[in-house]
Amino acid sequence: MGVLASLTAHELGRRFRRGEATPTQVVTDYLARIEALDPQVRSFLTVTREDALRCAGEADARFREGRPRGPLDGVPIALKDVLCTRGIPSTCGSRILERFVPPYDATVVARLYAAGAVLLGKLNMDEFAMGSSTEHSAFFTTHNPWDLARVPGGSSGGAAAAVAADMAALTLGTDTGGSIRQPAAFSGVLGMKPTYGRVSRYGLIAFASSLDQIGPFAKDAEDAALMLQVIAGVDPMDSTSVDVPVPDYRATLGQGIEGLRLGVPAEYFIDGMDPEVERAVRTGIATLERLGAHTEPVSLPHTEYGLAAYYVIAPAEASSNLARYDGVKYGLRASAARDLIDMYSKTRAAGFGTEVKRRIMLGTYALSAGYYDAYYGQAQKVRTLVRRDFEQAFQRVDLIVAPTTPGVAFKMGEKEDPIQMYLNDIFTIPVNLAGLPGVSIPGGFTQTGLPIGLQLIGRAFDEATLLRVAHAHEQATTWHTRKPQLAS
Ligand code: GLN
Repeated sequence: MGVLASLTAHELGRRFRRGEATPTQVVTDYLARIEALDPQVRSFLTVTREDALRCAGEADARFREGRPRGPLDGVPIALKDVLCTRGIPSTCGSRILERFVPPYDATVVARLYAAGAVLLGKLNMDEFAMGSSTEHSAFFTTHNPWDLARVPGGSSGGAAAAVAADMAALTLGTDTGGSIRQPAAFSGVLGMKPTYGRVSRYGLIAFASSLDQIGPFAKDAEDAALMLQVIAGVDPMDSTSVDVPVPDYRATLGQGIEGLRLGVPAEYFIDGMDPEVERAVRTGIATLERLGAHTEPVSLPHTEYGLAAYYVIAPAEASSNLARYDGVKYGLRASAARDLIDMYSKTRAAGFGTEVKRRIMLGTYALSAGYYDAYYGQAQKVRTLVRRDFEQAFQRVDLIVAPTTPGVAFKMGEKEDPIQMYLNDIFTIPVNLAGLPGVSIPGGFTQTGLPIGLQLIGRAFDEATLLRVAHAHEQATTWHTRKPQLAS
């Protein structure tokens, strides 16, 4: 195994253009790493070896002929298995879709292929993106590359761990309540949830449609900018994608953060949070001040109700989205059923795991006629209050800085109680409820060497400022350059 897999995508692009490396060399290096290390980390559900080598060969030819497609040409990527890939299994971490091979590509996938990116494979996740640890995957649990006895976070745990362990240069995950930012924090990489509507959800297997968004995991801000550039923008196939201009993200990176106003929300520093996390986040804020930003306290008073509202809204939408898995149209079908209803129930009983069933029951209950106003209607009102909190804060500040999670990566099996698992997302969920962009960046390590995430929350469609601040923070710190030690 060479050093190529440790490089950023932008560095790879530079070497390809200068003829110092070829996509085939890099893809070969990555495949060797996956073979050597993934038996320990277990981030991949499918490795698309032959396709990857063929696409790399085609990228080689484009560079040889002096006509590369752009900065991601020849760069090895991998995708959370919630994204549909034509001809390649897309399981969503579930038995019910175990044999589902989509006949089409998600828009983000089509755009990445068109940019020349080379797919290495599909990544493990909590079933239907419900969870914070990948322990709810129907297949196996992914391990945290920094400590194999711990979880990498979730639901996009495979996508975070693959970047952390240099088994892909860039990956895509999805974030409904924190599933990009939380695993990024636990795994020591950058993870960004764009504004709702910034990236097309066409071909993303739906969990909670009003909250889901696709976004990148990256080794640094510049790489995240390159990935976002490719996937962002309106799509006629997704009526919730928004037709606003997509700025040149990379061009804004070097502009510095002098004079930027940062809000620090009191509600995001709570009793019971890990003191090492709090210390790292305060240090991160001081670093940004040194770089010329001004900080001031802001208040987001409805933060504490966000989690409860989310656990009504997200299951409600999930119960409706998951009704389609009935044994007729997709994947699994139970045999030996007496009649149609029996076939439905046997299929769903066998195909869904415990957490998914819990959410379907919660959501069906919350939407039932007698309880709709008491639960779903009420939760929607709370959602509005959470959104207004942010609107008010953003009248005074350009950006909000906070912890991504109250703690660091926990041990496998440690959070058996669902509520304990849900509490991981208290600082990320409000951002989804409000539809805003958020990013988790490497913000330090505990004494025992576990990564800590620093969360930046921006105004709607202002991903550029998030990336600019992330980039400035990287210039003043070395956290993002640290690598976990994995022995092959
Ligand atoms: N952990 C949260 C949940 O279980 C968020 C998941 C997500 O963002 N997909 O719902």
